Amino acid sequence: MMGLSLAYRLATAGRRVTVYESAPRAGGLVSGADLATSVRWDRFYHVILASDAHTRLLLRDIGIEGEVSWTTTGTGVFAGGRLMPASTPLDLLRIPGLRPLDLARIAATLVRAGHDSPGRLVEWMTCEEWLTRWSGRRAWERFWRPLLRSKLGEDGPKASASFIVATLKRLGKARRAGLDRERFGWVRGGYERVADRLVEVLKRHGAPVRAGAPVSAVTPVDGGLAVRAIGTGTETYDRVVICAPGPAAARLCPAWGDDERRRLADPPWMGVVNVAVLMRSPLSGRYVTNLLDDGLPFTGVIEVTAVVDPAAVGGHHLVHLPRYVAAGDPLFDAPDAEVAGAFLAGLERVKPAFRRSDAVACRVFRARHVMPFPVLHRSHRVPPVATSVPGLFVLNGAQIDEGTANVDETVRLAGDFARSLLGGS
Ligand SMILES: Cc1cc2nc3c(=O)[nH]c(=O)nc-3n(C[C@H](O)[C@H](O)[C@H](O)COP(=O)(O)OP(=O)(O)OC[C@H]3O[C@@H](n4cnc5c(N)ncnc54)[C@H](O)[C@@H]3O)c2cc1C
Repeated sequence: MMGLSLAYRLATAGRRVTVYESAPRAGGLVSGADLATSVRWDRFYHVILASDAHTRLLLRDIGIEGEVSWTTTGTGVFAGGRLMPASTPLDLLRIPGLRPLDLARIAATLVRAGHDSPGRLVEWMTCEEWLTRWSGRRAWERFWRPLLRSKLGEDGPKASASFIVATLKRLGKARRAGLDRERFGWVRGGYERVADRLVEVLKRHGAPVRAGAPVSAVTPVDGGLAVRAIGTGTETYDRVVICAPGPAAARLCPAWGDDERRRLADPPWMGVVNVAVLMRSPLSGRYVTNLLDDGLPFTGVIEVTAVVDPAAVGGHHLVHLPRYVAAGDPLFDAPDAEVAGAFLAGLERVKPAFRRSDAVACRVFRARHVMPFPVLHRSHRVPPVATSVPGLFVLNGAQIDEGTANVDETVRLAGDFARSLLGGS
């Protein structure tokens, strides 16, 4: 989405642009896959929030805002061995181990997040320190710690408080934009439709998208920058913007020294292993179920068809089971059958009535580099967009200050950078 939306802004401003994509189809994290015969949907679950202004503007500009359907849904938790709703204060009171005082403090924490800035003021505290300060130890242990694990894996407590403040702010904004109930949008055809449409519009503006063309090197030469890609040979451009994740980008230019490569790959990136299960019956009817109990192989349960019409996925029910882990985690190399088996066993624990035989299809998807881990003092570790090679830039999720990876921030960053490139030329 970073590369495609940047290319779109540049091409529509009259610049000649070429996009290189290593996968056979453009889209990166938002691309789809065949989940079963005639069922193609997102490899990773994606919704649009009512407050995602940059995404919505882009969808309007490329003519597909009308293809978004909006709905409201509840949130749930798995706590004390039971699935239960967690959408209202009364629901939260039923969570084992949480008392009314904890609830009041959790509410005060949400208000506090609305007032705090995710930037320099809180980035030196860990999430554990910030959340314990405002919610107290018991609410941290019973409520916030498991929630953080769902987004950042086991290292969640050590993440910078900027992450939790930015995340709570984004959800708070969504709630306000949705008149107090979160409104979730989904694109008919899956989020891949957005990438496909961008490719179509780019082609119409004379900007080719070369899919299946992994770039192996970008080298300064007389008259510009030579881009070498597998399958398309070498071509020279005035400027090149690499929109790959930091660790992949850092390998691409032989003219960078070791220090610069290290800075581009920093902070350490984390990824996700995600099991998509197509089922015959619904799970809980709630989009997100946060896991407050320990010992499950995944870190959250996302029931996609609580938002998306089941007709869009062949009349089935689609559940995603993500586990966020460090980029070097051995889970990335575990055989699919082993991962799927462990995750389905976990699902049987979450919903005892579920049997593996209820799964119509089950597929494992992996993305090693989704976002940099939100380290302390993050603002000091954001790699600059301009590199030491004139005309060569690196733009990716590492430049999203608060470390909350989402399409809206991605599209915003691409738009800001397009303006600065256009203004400076
Ligand atoms: C499980 C999950 C759920 C999510 N849910 C949401 C959600 O509900 N809402 C939301 O807004 N966001 C969500 N996101 C976040 C969102 O997907 C990302 O923020 C966004 O897609 C990032 O886009 P990007 O272009 O920066 O990165 P990527 O999508 O990673 O794109 C990088 C691209 O670079 C390509 N590439 C890498 N190396 C090379 C090379 N050498 N040559 C050519 N191409 C190369 C890759 O193939 C890839 O296509 C979710 C992410 C995940 C993983």
